[in-house]
Amino acid sequence: MKDLMRFSHPKLADFAWPHCEIRGARPGPRLCISAGVHVNEVSAIEAAVRLQKLFRPQALAGSVSIIPLLNQPARFHYSEYVCPLDGKNINFTFPGRPDGTFSDLLCQAVMNEWTAGADCYVDLHGGDLRENVCRYSIYQRTGDEAFDAHARALARCFDAQVILGLPPASMLHPGRPPTGFARDGRYAVMSEAGSHGLVEESCVEFHVNGVLNIARYLGMIDEPSEPFRNTRNACNDNIWVEAPADGEFFANIEPGDRVARNQLLGGVRDLFGEPVAELRSPADGIVLWRMTHPTLRKGMWALAIATEEPAV
Ligand SMILES: [Zn+2]
Repeated sequence: MKDLMRFSHPKLADFAWPHCEIRGARPGPRLCISAGVHVNEVSAIEAAVRLQKLFRPQALAGSVSIIPLLNQPARFHYSEYVCPLDGKNINFTFPGRPDGTFSDLLCQAVMNEWTAGADCYVDLHGGDLRENVCRYSIYQRTGDEAFDAHARALARCFDAQVILGLPPASMLHPGRPPTGFARDGRYAVMSEAGSHGLVEESCVEFHVNGVLNIARYLGMIDEPSEPFRNTRNACNDNIWVEAPADGEFFANIEPGDRVARNQLLGGVRDLFGEPVAELRSPADGIVLWRMTHPTLRKGMWALAIATEEPAV
């Protein structure tokens, strides 16, 4: 079933969200999938569009609900990261607030209206206009062993280079969907793959196959899966590294590279080509993403490092 979804709050009433609902022939879990919180992350949006035709009701137990572009106000504006109505990054606003602005209210509507009762919510991301990200997935660690094991298993459905389990302290503040949902004892995961606002076939497949694996893991479909090719390194945090000076950032590393603490990751040059600052790794880890447009102000995010869980 295809329709335009509307949410109940009057401040959301000017927008409608293209929505696809697939009801399986048999009862089973409910899986909700979105993309387009960041509207330039088009490999993720394309994956959410493609998934609508890949779930066949006769072969499905339960139901699948897909909203391929959540940040409707940003559509046709190509806004990086934020909702243009309030300048907030929806991705870091979960669980939202009932007395807040559009982004807060949208997060509330996603959590409490659209995905209410869902067994898992998956939000697809990766590769805004000026960035390149490695293939990774994100879940929230809470300290509750059973919750964390299931959340991690959902995240491991993606054939990722890094499986990032956010530290429990993340739940003290508004955050990504996995964080907001975990605060309510609910499951949400995110996937990240893509670069530069391009539709890249291998990234689309990464998102699509990961979601299908989640449906398999939940017992909703039983078609065979693609083999995993990536190492799915278990990471327990991510450190965002600032540009150390105004200037032209250059990197010696790329997303997915393993780096050592204090390793030279790149630096900043001025417009005469002279070096003005170095950028060294704050920890041993794996490069999650980096900005690809060289021009950065001091204090802007330049890259992020995921730190690995100690081997057991
Ligand atoms: Zn994103």
